[in-house]
Amino acid sequence: MSGSHRFIRQAPRKRGPGLLSAVAVLAVAVAGCASFELSEGATLFGDQTGCGGHRAFGPAAEANAASLTSLPLTPFGRPELGWAIYAPAIAREAHTACAADTRGFAYALARWQFSHGLSPHGAVDPDTFAAMKDAWQARRPFVALRKAGICPESPTRLADLTPDESRLDKVVQLRPRALKALRRMVAAARREVPEIAADPQQLTVFSGYRDPAEDAARCAAELNCAGLVRAECSSHRTGLAVDLVLGAAPGFTDDSSDDANRLYQSRTPAYRWLVANARRFGFINYVFEPWHWEWTGERP
Ligand SMILES: [Zn+2]
Repeated sequence: MSGSHRFIRQAPRKRGPGLLSAVAVLAVAVAGCASFELSEGATLFGDQTGCGGHRAFGPAAEANAASLTSLPLTPFGRPELGWAIYAPAIAREAHTACAADTRGFAYALARWQFSHGLSPHGAVDPDTFAAMKDAWQARRPFVALRKAGICPESPTRLADLTPDESRLDKVVQLRPRALKALRRMVAAARREVPEIAADPQQLTVFSGYRDPAEDAARCAAELNCAGLVRAECSSHRTGLAVDLVLGAAPGFTDDSSDDANRLYQSRTPAYRWLVANARRFGFINYVFEPWHWEWTGERP
């Protein structure tokens, strides 16, 4: 249990109809003014109309504004402070385009919490974050295989990206249908977001299929097996995983997992568009790495 509940108005202890009706009353009170469904082509946090929300969610909004940069979490095996990096993914999960410190966001999160058996207070806390992470990871077929102790074989067919689709000097490959889906997605992003269209580097690929043998050799040669997982069984061996250029914070590389870089990337129009829209094209994000996306249209 965390101390992050302290600002929350006491939720009804009673289970069943009591809680349900309390939530229903709140939902009716704020319906239409606090949250809205994401439409096609949405970019998260673009339009804050209607995010003022009901005052009942004021305390939760204040709590979120503070915890955004201060909540201690260890979401992916490494301690982090705050959840700003994950705010777009959380907003997407809660079906809201409202910014993280608004009442509208808190209301949407409360709905999500309620539908996931959590106390619907509208504030991000460690339990809510853990449930979100479970939901994100559960959508990755590769993760399910790894949980079952399976490391998938390399695909039998791969297709080459064109030189202007990748940022590397060597040929990048993906499974043919994954590449088709990627092309459709990048074309849509360029159509829908002027900032992406203006920079031809945006959403080019800096890693696709990776030969497991090469990965292992590099890990040994560089004496850098920090990504031991990568060497042992990376999702890039499936030909379904792709690392996309989003831009990097000054002084960082495109794949730097430094928190400052990930925060920078999480705020780019490209990432926010992807979070809102990539699912339309079958792509799911590994949220710890804003650049890493997996196509789910075929079994890994
Ligand atoms: Zn990757």
